Amino acid sequence: MGKKKKDAGKKPKGKTPTRAKSRSFPDDFPGPARAMVIMAHPDDAEFVCGGTIARWCAEGWDVTYVVATGGDKGTHDSEMHPEKLAAIREEEQRAACRTLGVGECIFLGYPDGFTSESAELRGQIVRLVRVHRPDVVITWDAYERGFNHRDHRNIGVAVADALYPLVRDRLFYPADEEDGLDSHQVNEVLLAGTANPDFEVDVSQYWEKKLDAIVCHASQIGGRTREDFLKQRQEQAGGNTQQPMVENFRRWTIRRAQAQPPEEKK
Ligand SMILES: [Zn+2]
Repeated sequence: MGKKKKDAGKKPKGKTPTRAKSRSFPDDFPGPARAMVIMAHPDDAEFVCGGTIARWCAEGWDVTYVVATGGDKGTHDSEMHPEKLAAIREEEQRAACRTLGVGECIFLGYPDGFTSESAELRGQIVRLVRVHRPDVVITWDAYERGFNHRDHRNIGVAVADALYPLVRDRLFYPADEEDGLDSHQVNEVLLAGTANPDFEVDVSQYWEKKLDAIVCHASQIGGRTREDFLKQRQEQAGGNTQQPMVENFRRWTIRRAQAQPPEEKK
């Protein structure tokens, strides 16, 4: 029968895909909720979690982006200057946010490649989390062992440290409290770009929206079009269009502190 053999090694069951992941959205995840996506560069989020964001926004989630740098080194154009590139890339990021339905996009203004895992950066993240009070945060997996961009690593570490325990405990960065901000606890963290995912989001219905957002980053995609990305996807799927498109994460669940434990000494 004319069936191609070259993909014979791939999972033959078309109907009942037994999912390897035991945890997924929305089966094991509440919503709609508030999410904050904290990334290093404009375009990071679209590539690693654009489908998830599109899905959440469509389902009524309130999503805020925090982007640490302007991505101002990301060019091979000999005429380009960092300030100009940052302005272009920030505008591209805003367009991608509008496409996905992200409510707000905050730029921290660090130079590309020069973030440091510092008390200042942690304090900025703590404050933004206390202002926006997300239920879920998506950031880079800083503990990915392979080759990784230092900004991704630094952001991942700074966010992890900010979320536990700094943002929760009021005496860290007390100026926030003086400014009327309560401490906050984030219970769910999804790490993107991880080698060891244990959580997946089915974004099959949002894949094209993700591509719409990716192509907003025109300075970064080398002239590729939405159709090029679609074709690439079809080739990767080996013709198996039934297969769901998923985005993978490592999930951390931070236990909620006891409301008012009898012994609250520490
Ligand atoms: Zn990046």
